[in-house]
Amino acid sequence: MTECIFCKIVAGEIPSHTVYSDETVTAFRDINPVAPTHILIIPNKHIEAVSDLPEEDEQLMGHLFTVAQKLAEEEGIAESGYRLIINNGPDANQVVFHLHLHLIGGRKMKYPMG
Ligand code: 5GP
Ligand code: ZN
Repeated sequence: MTECIFCKIVAGEIPSHTVYSDETVTAFRDINPVAPTHILIIPNKHIEAVSDLPEEDEQLMGHLFTVAQKLAEEEGIAESGYRLIINNGPDANQVVFHLHLHLIGGRKMKYPMG
């Protein structure tokens, strides 16, 4: 039994507002959104962080980005712009240790953060 909350979301064991899923990737709305659009795009397989990314999963990472691109179009933020964030490790405040790409948009953001 995994204790990983995002693995449980992929398995459907805990509820989420899923907006996309396929054989390798799942995307769902962040429970604590920081902008009108805040979606987390994750690999279905458990990879803890970018630091742990196996070289053979390069393509999977690329897939996270093309899914982000499609979801941005669906959300109507492809033209207005959006931010893609991956937090890695303690200084970046990574809280959930299942690699995830934040897709954030729908409002003007500050540079570089906020
Ligand atoms: P991190 O800081 O690790 O990059 O971000 C983790 C994100 O996961 C946070 O934005 C947090 O709101 C979100 N999150 C944590 N637990 C859950 C959950 O159970 N469901 C959903 N949908 N999002 C979660
Ligand atoms: Zn996991």
